[in-house]
Amino acid sequence: MMRENCLVTAEEMKRQRLFADKVREMRDRPRSYHVVTYGCQMNAHDSEKIAGMLEEMGMTLSPDREQADFVIFNTCCVRENAERRALGNVTWLKEVRKTRPGMVIAVCGCMIQQPGMAEKILKQYKFIDLAFGTANLHRLPEMLYQQLNSGRNLVAVETEDFIAEGLPVRRLRQDAAYITIMYGCDNFCSYCVVPYVRGRERSRDPKQILAEARELRDSGVQEIMLLGQNVNSYGRSLASAPTFAGLLREIDALEIPRIRFMTSHPKDLSDELIEVMAGSRHILPQFHLPVQSGSNEILKRMNRHYTREQYLERVEKLRQAIPGIGLSTDLIVAFPGETEAQFQETLSLVQEVKYDSAFFFVYSPRTGTRAAEMPEQIPEEVGTDRIKRLIALQESLQQETQRRFLHTQEEVLVEGFSRRSNQAVSGKGRHGVSVTLPGGAEEIGKIVPCRIVGLKHNTLMGERI
Ligand code: SAM
Ligand code: SF4
Repeated sequence: MMRENCLVTAEEMKRQRLFADKVREMRDRPRSYHVVTYGCQMNAHDSEKIAGMLEEMGMTLSPDREQADFVIFNTCCVRENAERRALGNVTWLKEVRKTRPGMVIAVCGCMIQQPGMAEKILKQYKFIDLAFGTANLHRLPEMLYQQLNSGRNLVAVETEDFIAEGLPVRRLRQDAAYITIMYGCDNFCSYCVVPYVRGRERSRDPKQILAEARELRDSGVQEIMLLGQNVNSYGRSLASAPTFAGLLREIDALEIPRIRFMTSHPKDLSDELIEVMAGSRHILPQFHLPVQSGSNEILKRMNRHYTREQYLERVEKLRQAIPGIGLSTDLIVAFPGETEAQFQETLSLVQEVKYDSAFFFVYSPRTGTRAAEMPEQIPEEVGTDRIKRLIALQESLQQETQRRFLHTQEEVLVEGFSRRSNQAVSGKGRHGVSVTLPGGAEEIGKIVPCRIVGLKHNTLMGERI
């Protein structure tokens, strides 16, 4: 489906920068900030933009949320527990504020975008000073200026699907960076709230993406991760744009050492993409391919538009084209009406594919989605039992799966010290698997070639070459 992208105008972005200046000039403005992030990489990257804007307003990062003058919770509502946790932590901060009366509390992100949430905040969470949804992110300077000036709480939710280019970003890591290539989602999987809270699918202009990638390369970034809810459908909302595979080819030519992406919907995983990956040294040999269920009947009711057989065919194709490729997935158990036999099909799929890692979720009903209205919602204890069995199976298979890396060479982008020792560092190899190796602070942020010499607690052990 073709739609015009809704770009925030250059004048509006300029207006917001003027508001940022006005906040910076205020005498009683907050001086420090802390961002609490829930949910996916998209949210993590939004938080980097929030931090960028707050720094433009003259605030500095406070590592401790209790000490910050401005605390903002960037929320997720994909599952109910993420929402509950966020609201619990916001309420706890209200108590902290009794000892620090000037503290400003803000809540933003997907949770606020849900129908009825703005009203709920105005009634039940009056202590929240500022609340806004994902579509209002770029207007943070204006909203904060208004809130600080009036002293009253401000709740702003828009439903327009905007793309704001040129927001300042304060990146969490210097060696690895996110680039959002598209926003929203048009897939409407029957369990998922994302299309309702993140809006319709819209792709960024490829020129903007390439310019950002070039800038990151020139600043010394070792790895970029391209983000979208379904990167495989990149470009569909633009009148003229490359396919995702075409975009990757152009980014590959920039010679950034490592390129990753997520997430891919199996129905849109093209042969062209597999070919581009197979022919590239920079696009890492790893693939996150959420399957959600191993049962065709459940996949149909999830509105996923592929069968178990088609999924397995894509996995086979990936493995043939990119031998040794690292594979990961997402799976939901206890979807409405899921029988024990259908759950067994999920177990057998996991057994068959042998993933390097997997994220498992108990189905969580989300208001407004089709699955929430389906009869035969499954009792919580059945979901808990099924997820335990799935985790146990994955753990029992993972050691065996990762043995294929023993005695091979890997390149590890070191992220930090190992949790178990300060004489060792850890990071991700090219296949997306964690590797621990002897080392210290000087290795952090660098790509270190090593040989895999062992496997401990599902972590590969490396030795520097
Ligand atoms: N767009 C990506 C995709 O299609 O795979 C991921 C989006 S979602 C933020 C990440 C994962 O959350 C999904 O792959 C799914 O497994 C899980 N998820 C989404 N809605 C859920 C729900 N209502 N209950 C449980 N898990 C859910
Ligand atoms: Fe949700 Fe499906 Fe879109 Fe992923 S593809 S964000 S699971 S609706």
